[in-house]
Amino acid sequence: MRRKFVAGNWKMNKTIPEARQLITELLLTLKSLDGIDRAVCPPSTSLPMAAKLLQGTGVGLGAQNMYWEDSGAFTGELAPAMVAELCEYIIVGHSERRQYFGETDGTVNLKVKAALAHGLTPIVCIGESLEENQAGKTAEVVSRQVRGGLADLTPEQGAKLVIAYEPIWAIGTGLAATAEDANAIHRDVVRPALAELFGEQVAQGIQIQYGGSVKPDNALGFFTQSDIDGALVGGASLKADSFTAIAKAAAES
Ligand code: PEP
Repeated sequence: MRRKFVAGNWKMNKTIPEARQLITELLLTLKSLDGIDRAVCPPSTSLPMAAKLLQGTGVGLGAQNMYWEDSGAFTGELAPAMVAELCEYIIVGHSERRQYFGETDGTVNLKVKAALAHGLTPIVCIGESLEENQAGKTAEVVSRQVRGGLADLTPEQGAKLVIAYEPIWAIGTGLAATAEDANAIHRDVVRPALAELFGEQVAQGIQIQYGGSVKPDNALGFFTQSDIDGALVGGASLKADSFTAIAKAAAES
C-alpha cells in the first residue's frame, strides 16, 4: 500500500514572518495527520526557520531547487549538502524551472542523482504542455521525461523517488485535469515507464502525485483514484485552510 503524500510548493511567495505564520497555522492540523506523508516547500530564505519549527512534528520540509555540484563557483546556487542540512525533499524539474531557467531532462537527471547521493528525496516533476496535449503527445512526452530524468538509476535509487505528474496547462490555471484522465496517465504511462526502468515491484511502490489546480473541492476525487498517491499543490498551499483541507482529504481517502 502506497501512502498518500501531499506537498505544498509555495514557489516565490512568503517572507520569513509570513512563512512562520503559515507553518504555525498548518501545524495545528497537519501534525496529527500521521496516516499520510505531508510536507511544505517554502522559499530557501525560510528553510532554516521552517526546519526548526517542523522538527519532531512529522511534517516534512522540501526545497524548490538546488544545483548538482558539491561546491564551488556557482553564484546563487545551493549545493545538495546545504539543502540536506535542512530538508528531506527537493523538488526537481518543475515546469516553471524547465520553462524559465533552462532545466532539461539532462539537468533533472544530474540533480536527481545528486539529491539521492545526499539522502534527499527528489520530487521529480513531469508533464506535457497544452500543445503537446492537444497533439495527442502526452504519453510520448511523459515517458521521455521519465526515461531521461531518471536515466542510469538503480532500482534501489528508484525506490526512493517521488514523481509528480503535472500537466503544464493545469498549473495555476484553475483548469485541473479530470481525476480519471490523470489516473490514466499515472497508471498506463508513468508507472509502466517506471517499471521498465526499475522493475514492476519497485514501480508499484513509488508515490506518484498529481499536480495542477488541486483545490479542496476536487482533491478527494483525485485521491480516490487507483494510481494517484497524493498531490503537489501550488496556489492552494499558500493558505492554511485550503492546504489542510486537501491534506485531510488525502487522509480520509
Ligand atoms: C505547482 O506549481 O506545482 C502546482 C501544481 O500549482 P497549482 O496547484 O497552483 O496549479
